[in-house]
Amino acid sequence: MVWCGTMLVRKTLRQLTILVSVIALAGVVSGCGSGLFPEGEDVLVNGSCAAPTDQMGSFMGRVQGYPIEVVVDASFEKRAPDGTDYARAIGYAVDQWNAVSQRISGRDAFRVRFANLTDTLRQVDPSDCNVQFGDEDTFYVVRETNDEHWNKLNFGNSVPGATFRCTRSGRVVRQIVFLYPDKVAAPQFASVAVHEFGHSLGLDHSCLQGDGRDDFRSCDALPSTHEYRQAVMFPVIITGHSLSEMEFKATPLFNDRVRAACVIDPA
Ligand SMILES: [Zn+2]
Repeated sequence: MVWCGTMLVRKTLRQLTILVSVIALAGVVSGCGSGLFPEGEDVLVNGSCAAPTDQMGSFMGRVQGYPIEVVVDASFEKRAPDGTDYARAIGYAVDQWNAVSQRISGRDAFRVRFANLTDTLRQVDPSDCNVQFGDEDTFYVVRETNDEHWNKLNFGNSVPGATFRCTRSGRVVRQIVFLYPDKVAAPQFASVAVHEFGHSLGLDHSCLQGDGRDDFRSCDALPSTHEYRQAVMFPVIITGHSLSEMEFKATPLFNDRVRAACVIDPA
């Protein structure tokens, strides 16, 4: 199942009603195509999980151990035309979740290093869990630059990032994150990175696009002030032509942190 898509919302700015696009932050593939390791059904929550009843189904497979080794594409060290430092934004996203993890378990969730990645990895079909793209201890963050590959993964211009995971018995056996900086305004890149790293910890979205369930509330009709709407793990973010129109979500909020405690194992 791919969580992505394009939506439009009306937003009032400076007394005007402007139509701004909303980009799907991530395509999270649960179960990874082949169906070998279907994810999501048997994720157990630990005793300290205090997520609301209508978010109890909002979790994906947990990682196998901590810290998770993350190998980030060294090409992120090439900056945006406006000077935005993507590598630093990724480091910032990691720091955010490590701080959350420290509060929950007293240890970091992620340990990051940068490396040159192979073309094979860039071209991988991560929806096939038979293909090797990392292992249970290490995952890659790839800088996507290729529209053809992106389209093959069923993403378009409205999707700047995607996390693919394969799980077995509720535990991740491999995962990979693609970030496509050209699909998002540079100032919003950190928000996308924070969101994707939330997925890689095992958080699904804060609400479900489309019809909801008793244990996973629908995003439809959530007021703009609702904590699920404000969370970094809300499935879409508002874009715009200027900074004042853009939505920034670079810090996990209370709801994100409460849910993180349901997927981060106790030390
Ligand atoms: Zn997402």
